[in-house]
Amino acid sequence: MATLAMERLDRSELRLTDKLEQYLLTRPETPFLAVDLDVVASKYRELRYHFPSTSIHYAVKANPAREIVSLLARMGANFDVASRYEMEMCLALGIEPHRLSYGNTIKKSADIAYAFSRGVFRYAFDSEAELRKLAIEAPESAVLCRFETSGEHAGWPLSKKFGCDLQMAADLLLLARKLGLNPMGVSLHVGSQQVDPTPWSGPLSKTADLFRALAREGLILDTVNIGGGLPGPYESDVPPVRQYASAIGEALDEAFGSSHPNVMFEPGRSLVAEAGVIQSEVVLVSQESRFDETRWVYLDVGTFDDLAESFGESIKYRLRSTRTGIPGPLVLAGPTRDSREILYERSGYDLPLDLECGDRVEILNAGAYTSSYASVNFNGFPPLRTLCL
Ligand SMILES: *Cc1c(COP(=O)(O)O)cnc(C)c1O
Repeated sequence: MATLAMERLDRSELRLTDKLEQYLLTRPETPFLAVDLDVVASKYRELRYHFPSTSIHYAVKANPAREIVSLLARMGANFDVASRYEMEMCLALGIEPHRLSYGNTIKKSADIAYAFSRGVFRYAFDSEAELRKLAIEAPESAVLCRFETSGEHAGWPLSKKFGCDLQMAADLLLLARKLGLNPMGVSLHVGSQQVDPTPWSGPLSKTADLFRALAREGLILDTVNIGGGLPGPYESDVPPVRQYASAIGEALDEAFGSSHPNVMFEPGRSLVAEAGVIQSEVVLVSQESRFDETRWVYLDVGTFDDLAESFGESIKYRLRSTRTGIPGPLVLAGPTRDSREILYERSGYDLPLDLECGDRVEILNAGAYTSSYASVNFNGFPPLRTLCL
């Protein structure tokens, strides 16, 4: 397992954009997430360039800041919404309902009815009960069946909770037709923070088999939603977008030959992770006993404010401090009175030994799945502020 230590990363790997560096110099009150919208725009352009014929739906849950959603809307993106609330926000920003896809496979009937009444006609499902809700509340809508993938090599797997097996997907897509819905195809997600560019090939080849089998039943499917999964740079650098694009392109060729289906792509993390930095302050540096030299460093951000993905030390963010002393080991923890709120203990982090209370520590590439996870008021701490620059 790779461990992360500040000094093992190049200085250049810890540099932010000028805009973010300038902003941090003004020392606003911590903690906050600052997002450079230019980075989001350039990430979107890069994806557009490498995936020219896919329909890109930004997964709003990765970072729902209005400025980000508006920017991507202006650039032509579509959106994957996980709830009625994300949908309401997109609609309030003037995004047309046909650009929204309700991708959560777990929805209340009332929320489906609401979506339908607002003109949203594209839904995902992975069970019969959900399909029957859709048939009642959103008649004739386009539906995609989510099937399960292994989630291997993903830093944040999504497989267990979502997706049915392929046989069930086939049965449910046929049932969808019988119920008067418009079955368009399947959706899948190879797991978030997918550091291997190749895991789409298995699921796409199964998709092609499924499409062929259903065509024999007279059901023509033409859409595959390949989910998200492209990673952000945390403990180590990750393969460039073009490697994912060529691996996915090859997988499509292999599975479908020259007649590719319509491909929907739902990037979340890869569009926003690198655009954001969290600035936090060291609240306390302490030792628990005179005989145990372990250094505990407590920050003013933690598992419940915004670093939910550090849970189980899954996502290992790059850290930066302004101190230049010799790095030494530490246990890094958050500020609440919850004893499980230890951010990193086993991952080999180190930070300068001269780190003191009041110093600032920056969490880099933290634009995805941070502010959107923040608890509202745990221990009275307000949710993380987001500033878009
Ligand atoms: C979360 C999610 C995404 C975004 O995944 P990333 O790994 O952040 O790109 C896309 N589609 C669905 C259905 C999701 O649940």
